Amino acid sequence: DEGWSTTRFVVLGFGTAGYACADSLLQAGAEHVVVLDDRDTEALREKAQILETLGATITLGPGSTAELPADVEIVVTSPGIPPHAPLLAAAAERNIPIWSEIELAWRLRDPANAAPWLCVTGTNGKTTTVQMLTAILTAAGHRAVAAGNVGLPLLEAVMDPEPFDVIAVELSSYQLHFTSSMSPHSAAVLNLAPDHVDWHGSMEAYTAAKGRIYENCQIACVYNVADPVTEQLVMDADVIEGCRAIGFTLGTPAISMVGLVEDLIVDRAFVEQRASSALELAAVADVVPPAPHNVANALAAAALARAFGVPATAVRDGLRKFRPDAHRIAHVGEVAGVNYVDDSKATNPHAAQASLLAYEHVVWIAGGQAKGATFDELVIAAAPRLRGVVLLGQDKAVIAEALARHAPDVPTITVEATETGAMETVVGEAAKLAQVGDTVLLAPGCASWDMFANYGARGDAFAEAVLRLGDR
Ligand code: ADP
Repeated sequence: DEGWSTTRFVVLGFGTAGYACADSLLQAGAEHVVVLDDRDTEALREKAQILETLGATITLGPGSTAELPADVEIVVTSPGIPPHAPLLAAAAERNIPIWSEIELAWRLRDPANAAPWLCVTGTNGKTTTVQMLTAILTAAGHRAVAAGNVGLPLLEAVMDPEPFDVIAVELSSYQLHFTSSMSPHSAAVLNLAPDHVDWHGSMEAYTAAKGRIYENCQIACVYNVADPVTEQLVMDADVIEGCRAIGFTLGTPAISMVGLVEDLIVDRAFVEQRASSALELAAVADVVPPAPHNVANALAAAALARAFGVPATAVRDGLRKFRPDAHRIAHVGEVAGVNYVDDSKATNPHAAQASLLAYEHVVWIAGGQAKGATFDELVIAAAPRLRGVVLLGQDKAVIAEALARHAPDVPTITVEATETGAMETVVGEAAKLAQVGDTVLLAPGCASWDMFANYGARGDAFAEAVLRLGDR
């Protein structure tokens, strides 16, 4: 294609996304691809060599991203880089288009032969919902794949020589910020709570980025009835004529909603539009784990699948086959009549609150890097369920202060240790607070990087400590 070969591209960032972008541009016939990254490691140099033989120019090391090359026509950026980074600010100033990997993937699709995109964003539950959706689409016999922020990079899914029927796309707010021409078949915003506000600059900017998922939507904009901001984003979006707003709710669904009637998941949106029309899709018990927030994820996945025309039986079969990824409300064991649950992936207060509300009596293990978040709302909502709290990590004081304000009677233990053995102390303290029938829940509401390599390592440390507790 003439356009690709003559356009001067700069790819900003040479991580996984940047590599995929540069590689795809070269595959598409681009002849002017410059990649810039401030880092300079052996691994990056090796990757650079591969792309240089294909014709790209790669500049690594300190200062590489200080200045925008004079003749650049399009900047393709990576998720880690905030819009206020000097090079992006300079590009915006000069009215140079800035594309995310998603924007590039959309433009590289072969329009004659392209799989529709069913897109999911939200503060929490994205990965789970996309995986549930993929399971449902697969149960319906489609060649489906989860891509984007999870699973396959979206560029790879789009360039796959054997085309998919449909792609379940997980999108982060970072990716959406620089995406403008995507036109999804259908799209969902699951929920909105403060997260990544530093990157976006404000909660308004974060919300607006999420809302871009609905732009140019073709068939259904799926929103969360319990989260009115998501409905407002649908109202504010420019959609393709005929695109419908479909709500999902843990309550009884009105017309044009998917929701619950007693213990059944019921569709009142993709059925004949008569006042009485409702179609049973699955049972709540088909959702694993059946925690309310996870049932909400299943409702969103079901709505997107139904928008795509999937039959009711496939919704049920797909949900039954689905199992969550590790560290998402994973049951790790029972010791002395107490349940131990690893929800290490709850890395912000909104996520931790959702999992706390799934249990009646909880000993809550929390703390880590709070990323500037506040815990007041969570503590107020969860206080009646808290048997006790054990705090660890860098920002434990932030949580301790919220507990002192709103739940002063809940026994709270603070573990100062930060070395490897700390989790064993934490679990030991939690065990002392718990009573038979209680749940000890690791739902830190914080990132893990102060003490662990990542949330997975944190969850593993917890599971090992629980195992040792059982052996005592
Ligand atoms: P994401 O991809 O958005 O990070 P995940 O599906 O990986 O979401 O889930 C991350 C964590 O968020 C879970 O461990 C759970 O604590 C919480 N969570 C999942 N779904 C929801 C939801 N619908 N609402 C609130 N919290 C949720």
